[in-house]
Amino acid sequence: MEAAARASPAPVRGPVAIGTAEELDRAQLLGAPLRSLPRPSVLGAPLTKLRGAGPKLAAAAGEIGIETVGDLLLHLPHSYRDHSEPRPIAELRLGEEATLRVEVRKARLRPTRRRRLRIVEATVADESASLTAIWFNQAWLAERLTEGTRLLIQGTLAGRGFRVAGYELLDGKPASGSPAGIHTTGIVPVHPATERLRAQRLRDWAWQATTLARNAVEPLPASLRAEHRLAGVADALMAVHFPGRQTVAQSARRRLAFEELFLYQASLAARRCRRRAAGRAPVLPPPGPRVERWLDSLPFSLTGDQRRAMDDLDRDLQGSEPMQRLLMGEVGSGKTVCALYAMLRAVEAGHQAVLMAPTETLAEQHFHTLDALLTAEPAPAALLSSATPAGRRRELLEILAAGQPSIVVGTHALIEPTVRFGSLAVAVVDEQHRFGVSQRAALDAKGGEGGPPHVLHMTATPIPRTLSLTAYGDLDSTALRELPAGRQPVSTWVVGEEKRPGAYEFVRERLREGRQGYVICPLIAESEAIQARAAEVEAKRLAATEFRDFEVGLLHGGMPSERRQEQMARFSAGDVDVLVATTVLEVGIDVPNATVMVIEGAERFGLSQLHQLRGRVGRGEHDSHCILFGDPDSEAARARLEAVTGERDGFKLSEVDLAIRGEGEILGTRQHGLPRFRAASLPEDMGLLLAVRREVQALLARHGSLDVPVLGPLMAEARRRFGDERIEQIAA
Ligand code: ADP
Ligand code: MG
Repeated sequence: MEAAARASPAPVRGPVAIGTAEELDRAQLLGAPLRSLPRPSVLGAPLTKLRGAGPKLAAAAGEIGIETVGDLLLHLPHSYRDHSEPRPIAELRLGEEATLRVEVRKARLRPTRRRRLRIVEATVADESASLTAIWFNQAWLAERLTEGTRLLIQGTLAGRGFRVAGYELLDGKPASGSPAGIHTTGIVPVHPATERLRAQRLRDWAWQATTLARNAVEPLPASLRAEHRLAGVADALMAVHFPGRQTVAQSARRRLAFEELFLYQASLAARRCRRRAAGRAPVLPPPGPRVERWLDSLPFSLTGDQRRAMDDLDRDLQGSEPMQRLLMGEVGSGKTVCALYAMLRAVEAGHQAVLMAPTETLAEQHFHTLDALLTAEPAPAALLSSATPAGRRRELLEILAAGQPSIVVGTHALIEPTVRFGSLAVAVVDEQHRFGVSQRAALDAKGGEGGPPHVLHMTATPIPRTLSLTAYGDLDSTALRELPAGRQPVSTWVVGEEKRPGAYEFVRERLREGRQGYVICPLIAESEAIQARAAEVEAKRLAATEFRDFEVGLLHGGMPSERRQEQMARFSAGDVDVLVATTVLEVGIDVPNATVMVIEGAERFGLSQLHQLRGRVGRGEHDSHCILFGDPDSEAARARLEAVTGERDGFKLSEVDLAIRGEGEILGTRQHGLPRFRAASLPEDMGLLLAVRREVQALLARHGSLDVPVLGPLMAEARRRFGDERIEQIAA
């Protein structure tokens, strides 16, 4: 057999070693790239600067957040294929995935019966043997693969031939100008791709972009890089896309993850410093008789966690540094009581307090909870909503402007310019992730001359410590894990389709006993409209079949809010027996008589979310039940769901969730204002995160501030990637 493909020189790649102590040989040292001063503007250039990046493809890239060459460099491979050595054909085994260096003997378009299926078959050979290579749906290749064409093909040996997944022609200039081999030899990066933007295209662009990587500005201080054995940013970028070896890719990624977490933590720390510098909050004297009387008047005894939370609050409120505390606890864990404690302390000291909720419904509900908690020991409290009559509103605004001690509950209407506070000392923000940075800043400004208020942020989504450090690194935090006495555990089952008739019968029995129930529709799409339609269909079906003897209601996010409130009111009043709902139910409904919940498509929900949903039942004196329909095909999903049946602690479930699904899934950026990291991923990088936090704190201690000249490049990059406006954009 004639020698087919002669060895061509391996393409020039990124570093062979970075951040290691190992000796390099002469050739490796000679091959080390020369350095010149970086020109950051090069990386700010639009993607269309690259060869093969026209407006259409650039738009496709824009959809996944890649606008500039610099963005592309941060679009890291999700995996690598190791094709260090082309394999001789003769040694291939059936099913083996390999790269071959071959020459074409003949090629043809094979006729098929299916019109849409186009198969190109080529006989190819190397020095050892020949075989049939098969391409699907690339008919034009039949003409291009003339006899003698040399190419690299990568794919799998199947029964009928070698199925080609990727290929590169070795002769002639490739259209993109990238060196031959980047797609098929060595350690081949595979970038997250889309339907319109294929991995091969991204790889080609990434190759071009890495030749510009030396223009990246190094944000990490040199001392830090030395101490943590971190390579320079340019080397890391080159190495992560085109590593000489797998281990190099790992250390490059680690370096970029370090940088990313560092920039994020630094931006949080800077924000915190800025807030501190913004002014002094009112210092509150220790709790007096009025607050003591109120505590004594409560119809229950506080849980240990609630007591501890109040201690935290006392410590914060006696200082002049504005409190920034996060209070985490699932719905019903008693956060409102703690918040009211802080607000009453403000009122007792002659100041004002606000509670801001993301929706009118939640504001109203909070107001009722506060009202009930204040019956035995009244305090001036008011609700300010869009439904507040004009006259009452004017009166209220006057009281607030005059600085009369009072508590006011409302939505973001509270931070409108027309609302002025004479003496605001405490602000409570419910579901804080639903407010933007600018809204929170507006709240800070409401303190007027008295300085920013002490702020307590509340969230009902228990998230693991790892993530709270990341998402809320600029806040102190307190968790309410213990549920108040009297909350019923919810018996939970995961069942398959075969149990469906029995499950409905079980629900009907509860309804006949006078109880009420929920049916939660599966998460089928991001789109509210699609979700809503599915809920409507399910409600109709159940009303006509399983629950035809009962009153079936419907609740989804596509309904106008008055209709939603009306539905909730009817359900609360007992006029509706079964409420079919989407996840809008998660927040804001508390009906003790509802004791049974059916969740459809449970495998699509996060464990934390299931736990939250389940928390809507078990709120009264009756036994409560939750039936999860899980996908019976998937044992893994089923096993995951079993965790919900056994575990009652929302924080523990969130840890499990995190371990299984990763942070991206749990914390949609929208939900938590948390940026999506490109290099870092949690919980795997927890160790790195803790190291980074220590370093940021050390920097702060050393310089007294992060806004010092030596940290200029660091903070500039932190602002660029994670600045307030940027976060606002991401969270919007
Ligand atoms: P959250 O705001 O965390 O959802 P709430 O503060 O609204 O929880 O409390 C839910 C219900 O439990 C309220 O009716 C409240 O009065 C009651 N509650 C709060 N703390 C306790 C407790 N320690 N023991 C019993 N009931 C409590
Ligand atoms: Mg509440």
